[in-house]
Amino acid sequence: MDKKHVEDRLRQFETLCRERGLPLTIQRREILKTILQRDDHPAAEEVYEAVKDRLPGLSRTTVYRVLEALVDLGVVRRLHHPGPNARFDAKISRHHHLVCRLCHRVIDLESPALDNLKLPSIGSQGFKVEDYSVHIVGICGECAKKEGLGIRD
Ligand SMILES: [Zn+2]
Ligand SMILES: [Zn+2]
Repeated sequence: MDKKHVEDRLRQFETLCRERGLPLTIQRREILKTILQRDDHPAAEEVYEAVKDRLPGLSRTTVYRVLEALVDLGVVRRLHHPGPNARFDAKISRHHHLVCRLCHRVIDLESPALDNLKLPSIGSQGFKVEDYSVHIVGICGECAKKEGLGIRD
C-alpha cells in the first residue's frame, strides 16, 4: 500500500477508535501500520518480529490480542485460506488470492470476473452470504524456478 493510503487508513482508524471510545494505543497503531505497509499477508509471528524492536516490552500475547481486536473492528481481515498459520490482510476490499502450496506465499489477485461470480442459490439452505473470496492453490513463480533448478541439477 502506498504511503498516502497507509496514512489515510491510519487516520480512519483513529476516527473509528474515537467514535467507539477505544483507546488508540501505540501497539494498535504500530501493528496496523505494519500490516498496511505489507502486502504479503503476514502471520501473527511475522507481525511480532516486525514490530518488536519499535515497541520494547511487547509480548506475543499482546500482538495476538491486538490482531483479534483489529479483525473485530473490521480494519484487518483474517484469511481463511489453507496454510499452517492464520494470515492477516489489511486490504479489506474484495479481492482474491493465489496460494503457493510449497512456500505458503499468499499473493493478491484482482479479478473483476471473480468479483462478479454468480453464486449458486444458497439461500434455500438458510445460509446468508456476506462475502466471499476465491483462493487458487498452486506453485508460485519462485518455487517453480527452484523446482526447475532442482531437476536440472
Ligand atoms: Zn512458493
Ligand atoms: Zn490479500
